[in-house]
Amino acid sequence: MPGFFVAGFREFGVIPRMRLRHHIKDHNKPEFTAALDKLGIRYRTKAIGGADQVVAWDCFDLSVYDDDPKWPLLRDLAAEHSVRIWHSPVFTNEDITSAPWLLASASADAGYPQPEDGFGYESESFDLSHCCRRCGIGKVQTSAIRLRGEPKSKAAHFFAPQWLHQIVFIRPQVRDVFKAEDVSGVRYLAPLSHRTGRALETALQILPTTSAGAGLVGSVQEQVACSPTDEEMSRIKIPSSAWVTAADSYCQRIKYHVPNRRRLVHYSRSTFDGAPDILHTAEWFGSGCAAAQFVVVSNKVARLVLDHKWKGLELEPIHLV
Ligand SMILES: [Zn+2]
Repeated sequence: MPGFFVAGFREFGVIPRMRLRHHIKDHNKPEFTAALDKLGIRYRTKAIGGADQVVAWDCFDLSVYDDDPKWPLLRDLAAEHSVRIWHSPVFTNEDITSAPWLLASASADAGYPQPEDGFGYESESFDLSHCCRRCGIGKVQTSAIRLRGEPKSKAAHFFAPQWLHQIVFIRPQVRDVFKAEDVSGVRYLAPLSHRTGRALETALQILPTTSAGAGLVGSVQEQVACSPTDEEMSRIKIPSSAWVTAADSYCQRIKYHVPNRRRLVHYSRSTFDGAPDILHTAEWFGSGCAAAQFVVVSNKVARLVLDHKWKGLELEPIHLV
């Protein structure tokens, strides 16, 4: 419901220039794509072949902004054919440079963390002694992430591994600028080649050395409690071979849905007082059995990213209330 999202933003009188992007993405909806064809609306397609009893997927996707005259039509058509839409805010450079603090996440792909079989990277790079197997809250990175090789994109300066979307890798040239500009609160940790165990040469993880205090204003963010009575947690099925078993207990801790799929994130004004330029949120974000703390960056870091026209970092202003 687009009106719902817009009302959510206006609740606190936030950033008027912000636009919403609606990402229409689904598969095997031939009536919907035929209707798009008839209207002359272009979209991307990708076919994923089936095997044995697995049905082939004819995937399609297109993005449309809320101020596009085609949006109301596409919204109604998608609803009619039960096609899925993801909504995310889009910020102008001015929105970003006027925000004192921002959530940062990398959009370019660094490949799967290793070893990927049975999610082996979890115990390889993280201390799991306080991690809840049901909700994923509490894992602490203690060692470098292992990758198959150097991140491939030539254009991007920021990368995230698959499954670990709140981890941010940077190119060495970004590290050099951050160091020259005295960007504080960060340790640079090279990911390792899984095969050789040697440090990769063209990527470094920015690892925040501190976390903020709790400050998320919860009423505008959907929260999930790790409890058998929580609606989302109770829907998670326990696969027979997974590392979660029916015998695992619920930790009762709380996490929040990833904000850029939902609404602007609100923090109380004093949360980041005296904080370094890069830090973790106190809160955990995610859904299902995934949870991670977000990387928060200061206005100074955001300006460096824009000034150098570095690619591959999504910055989302935090609204202080
Ligand atoms: Zn839990």
